[in-house]
Amino acid sequence: RLDLAGRLARRLGASLRDEVVHAVDGVDLAIRRGEVLGLVGESGCGKSTLGRMVAGLLPVSGGTIRREGRDIATLGRRQRLRTQMIFQDPYASLNPRLRVGQIVGEAPLVHGLVPRAGVETYVEEQLRRAGLDPALRRRFPHQFSGGQRQRIGIARALAVQPDFLVCDEAVAALDVSIQAQILNLFMRLRRELDLTYLFISHDLGVVEHLSDRVAIMYLGRVVEEAPVAAIFGRPNHPYTQALLAQVPRIEARRRAFAGIRGELPSPLRPPPGCHFHPRCPHALPRCAAERPALREVAPGHRSACHLNDSP
Ligand code: SF4
Repeated sequence: RLDLAGRLARRLGASLRDEVVHAVDGVDLAIRRGEVLGLVGESGCGKSTLGRMVAGLLPVSGGTIRREGRDIATLGRRQRLRTQMIFQDPYASLNPRLRVGQIVGEAPLVHGLVPRAGVETYVEEQLRRAGLDPALRRRFPHQFSGGQRQRIGIARALAVQPDFLVCDEAVAALDVSIQAQILNLFMRLRRELDLTYLFISHDLGVVEHLSDRVAIMYLGRVVEEAPVAAIFGRPNHPYTQALLAQVPRIEARRRAFAGIRGELPSPLRPPPGCHFHPRCPHALPRCAAERPALREVAPGHRSACHLNDSP
């Protein structure tokens, strides 16, 4: 079991002019081996920060992230490699002076996963697995399209033999038809390599298509978490309901965040109590003062809303 429990109580301290942004606040999530957990939220809600912390790219302060029971901060180099991150813009992380073969082969060589004599064959295998012609390994990143660059990023990640991929808006910058190809690739790799995914996206249609479970984030907190059918069929939290009410059909769900009334408050000064209360059509007097706990409302379905306490 991949027990990756993030008990990220209070505070990833990002100081901004003497103020502290609680980009992620009190998140407690577990991801099971082999599943896809979709993480959804408006931009600025902390989902990318959480993804980077889970991938070990940002420090966690005031909490821990555990993998198979061990704090990821204590893992060795090889163990850390088992979690890889796929970004929205792979081009920014592809060294423009290196050929694709070097980009994909560098880390497995450095970490001793493949001998120098075998690296070319190994790279070809990773490129093929990511849906690229191995003959393209001599080209430079600028000679590829956006979709191909994302495949290079995926091949590079696969080359260090991960079992867990954190995908942060990994298809957001691509045309819809290319998006579908990359999503199908993720699903094929999941089957072939028994991969686990944390799939971060603002696109509800993509998340519904891909995920087994979904967590909804709002201003640094997870407000609802449930199997995908429950989130989309029986949403409990008023924020989730507002998202889905705007866009009843899958193909329109990518526009979800345009329709909720009110602005997303500044993470520098989030509203007290339930962060969603200034925008919530069902807010009670206690909502402005008391933070609702994430509680089970049905088996495997948790929601953080005071309405669930009402008789
Ligand atoms: Fe709305 Fe109150 Fe529930 Fe927050 S706790 S979502 S303000 S009803």
